[in-house]
Amino acid sequence: MSYDPNNIFAKILRGEAPAIRVYEDAQTLAFMDIMPEAEGHVLVVPKEAAETLLDLSEDSARAAIVTTRRVAIAVKQALEASAVRVAQFSGADAGQTVPHCHFHIVPHVPGAVRSS
Ligand code: 5GP
Repeated sequence: MSYDPNNIFAKILRGEAPAIRVYEDAQTLAFMDIMPEAEGHVLVVPKEAAETLLDLSEDSARAAIVTTRRVAIAVKQALEASAVRVAQFSGADAGQTVPHCHFHIVPHVPGAVRSS
């Protein structure tokens, strides 16, 4: 599968497009979703150029899930959420719209109104 280096998450990773960054390490970056499904919706992206989870190296996949877990814990605590949904779509037919592998973290806050 050919990777498009001009996709929006690649631009965010290179600092060419803005994002509200909440966590970064050598292999991953986490930032706020621009159209959140709920307050606190964060995206975690591996820095490796991979379109889907299936294209990602196992090393980057491990790093991405560790970051996803860390950020999910932090978001859950910060928003006093009762639960957190983690989602990953690999392929347009599964609902993927940005062709760079990413994980969604969507907290569930009791009584909160969903923004979409
Ligand atoms: P997908 O459907 O590919 O799993 O999710 C892509 C996500 O990326 C969507 O939730 C969408 O709101 C988010 N998104 C799309 N463009 C941008 C952008 O330019 N900046 C940020 N922060 N999020 C984006």
